[in-house]
Amino acid sequence: MASFPIFIDVDASKPLVVGGGDLALSKIRLLLKRAKSVDVATNAPIAALRELACHGAVTLIATPITEIDIRGCSLVISATNDVVEDERVSLIARAFGVPVNVPDRPHLCSFSLAAIVDRGSVTVAIGTEGAAPILATRLRAELEQTLHPRIGRLAEVAREFRSKVAAAVPAGAQRRAFWERMFSGAAANAILADNEALGRQLLNAQIAEQRSTPQAAGRLILVGAGPGDPDLLTLKAVRALKSADVILHDGLMGEGVLDHARREAQCVSVAKSKGRHSLSQAEINALIVAFVRQGKTVVRLKGGDPLIFGRGGEELDIARATGISVEVIPGITAATAVAASLQMPLTHRDVSRSVTFVSGHAAGDGGADFDQVDFAALASGSATLAVYMGLSTAHILASKLIGSGWLPTTPVIAVSRATQVNERRVALTLEILAAKSGALKLDGPALLMVGEVASLEVAGQVERIAHIEPSKKHSELEHA
Ligand code: SAH
Repeated sequence: MASFPIFIDVDASKPLVVGGGDLALSKIRLLLKRAKSVDVATNAPIAALRELACHGAVTLIATPITEIDIRGCSLVISATNDVVEDERVSLIARAFGVPVNVPDRPHLCSFSLAAIVDRGSVTVAIGTEGAAPILATRLRAELEQTLHPRIGRLAEVAREFRSKVAAAVPAGAQRRAFWERMFSGAAANAILADNEALGRQLLNAQIAEQRSTPQAAGRLILVGAGPGDPDLLTLKAVRALKSADVILHDGLMGEGVLDHARREAQCVSVAKSKGRHSLSQAEINALIVAFVRQGKTVVRLKGGDPLIFGRGGEELDIARATGISVEVIPGITAATAVAASLQMPLTHRDVSRSVTFVSGHAAGDGGADFDQVDFAALASGSATLAVYMGLSTAHILASKLIGSGWLPTTPVIAVSRATQVNERRVALTLEILAAKSGALKLDGPALLMVGEVASLEVAGQVERIAHIEPSKKHSELEHA
């Protein structure tokens, strides 16, 4: 059954349960978590049901019921333990378009019951379209632990303030930003910490502040998306994605990263794609400024960490130059992601005392740009090099390192698409790498780890290239 999750109003019209036994009782109790009262059709209610009827939570109706009892109900659950009666009820309900559920008989149901995490006004309903009810139960247990117990109160207090906020803050981006600020700020913290009086006071202060400076200020958040695995996003990055009106991303975001964006957020790829060039940095800067000046919260989402070979510095400059408010949320950079995936330390007391992040590309033209790095100074054999964007220039770098005094036998591991499903690793030596361009035969973003740490044991499969092609020894290349 392909299902669309919705919440049904059980205030305006009552739910109806058919049946008077234990099964019916369990469904009635479930409904009473929300409904003020439930109609129950049975001629033989068990004691607990009669008691509920005495308290007014349940209204007993005589059976057999007819279409008159069913029409106008918000929903029907038939739990009579009598297949023929359940079938009859299901037929009538469906004929009149009333949602109906018969426990454990999916073919008689027009809706299924979700596994519920109940926090008062905040409800999480989990469904698996009948595929894996136990999985839903497990998820519920996980959410029970992660959802703050007072999150429902937070929603209730927000409800109290809804009209006041609506009167003070214009609808759209501004009001959304107001609530974002509220839910991640001191007022929400106070409410969650069971100090609602303080929470209300802070919320009133936030409204007053909004009144005195009504023009919503847009802002820029530089967010590190990490190496691709969405589980490696930080909580702050996820929050930023949820608050963004516009997300400017580099394309090739690991699958699932953009799933954290708000549904209404405008996602703009500034990367190269088929038939279209990537936007220049100047064009990206202009876009950022334009969106922020419209009062929008702009997330500039970058792979890895935004301040490592990500041109984040240039975007910070432009924000400062134009007076735009800016925040940076760090991400897990490729080097640490690769190290974690290989379970290979970047530094090690015995073999490497330092780690250097270098780029294999020049700023503009994409050619090799190693002249500014003092490789000789790092050639003591106790350093690790993490080379970004170095796939196409790897052989040049390897020659350069050997020329600077690095041992030709220095181990190298190249990892492409680290932390993503199609991650690949190739191990070789500087000498073999120097011998031939394209020796690595890797595609996609790849990082090179050079140094003795790459000879330590690593986790998982590694392809090894152990020979130099006879025609192209490194010495020939070196002296060419
Ligand atoms: N800001 C990014 C780096 C951007 S430069 C960061 O901090 O990671 C792009 C380069 O990063 C790629 O050419 C590659 O060398 C490296 N890279 C990014 N993601 C990677 C991944 N999942 N696996 C291996 N290398 C990656």
